[in-house]
Amino acid sequence: MPHTKEQQKPILLLIDDSPSIHRLLAFKLKNEGLEFLAAFDSTEGVELAQSHQPSLILLDLNMPVVDGFQTMRALKECSQTISIPVIVLSGTTSPEDKVRAFELGAMDFVCKPFDIHELRARINSAIRISRLMKMLEMRAQVDGLTGLWNRAYFNERLASELAEASRNNKHLALVLCDLDHFKKLNDTFGHPAGDAVLQGFAEVLTTELRAYDIPCRYGGEEFVIILPDTDRDEARQVAERIRAALEAKGWPKFPDIHATASFGLTTAGLAGKDDPASWIQAADQMLYQAKHAGRNRVEVFSGPPSDGKAHLALAS
Ligand SMILES: [Mg+2]
Repeated sequence: MPHTKEQQKPILLLIDDSPSIHRLLAFKLKNEGLEFLAAFDSTEGVELAQSHQPSLILLDLNMPVVDGFQTMRALKECSQTISIPVIVLSGTTSPEDKVRAFELGAMDFVCKPFDIHELRARINSAIRISRLMKMLEMRAQVDGLTGLWNRAYFNERLASELAEASRNNKHLALVLCDLDHFKKLNDTFGHPAGDAVLQGFAEVLTTELRAYDIPCRYGGEEFVIILPDTDRDEARQVAERIRAALEAKGWPKFPDIHATASFGLTTAGLAGKDDPASWIQAADQMLYQAKHAGRNRVEVFSGPPSDGKAHLALAS
């Protein structure tokens, strides 16, 4: 289940070589409910931005050695800091500087000496915008009906987990699940019942999975789970636990429903390949087998490579 960051004090990172600016802002903004982080040069600033993920950065343009423009470029070139909003503070009012700062990705530009009321308003506005952007970004990755991660997120995440597993030589498991006879269930009990089962299955996944597992809605009545750092036997136990929990689940509003699901599990890609598509194909092949062996079961891919053709059309 996607976890939102808990509401916490927004962190404001000030990167400025002048200690008096640090003192002034810490004093003037002490009642704003912000947590302050102080950096006195570019290197320190970029490091703190990466490690603390501030809500907002105030960046001085005029610093010795590495100036604000270069700092900005470093922040925007790094995936960890690219989306942190930056307000540039400048001693000059030069239009060229302003244009350059905005071109490099600044959200706002404030000239020194600044009016503290105005700066405060700009800070609060920038933090509000960045919160909204995060919320939108999160919504775009979450499935509306079940609250699980959606397919777009899954695609991205599988690629990064595969890369991470191979880099660190760690286990990884992938489980594709499909609710059994879902079309019939919808036809017999109606779509509200179908939705209740999709949501109920999502609940089972959230309850039975571990905090670091990644359950996603793949589409329709198909779900997919990424299990980082998990070997084949562990993954089989997890999938079996989910299967049994769904089978045992009661449906208070629809007492006649008996929902089950089939599972295809893999810890490798099809034909010895290590790209996301091959992993999905391997899991899909196992899911196909589970369906044909009678449903409500877990089938596990054991390699070795087969014909390399996945059975992409699923029988429901
Ligand atoms: Mg300065």
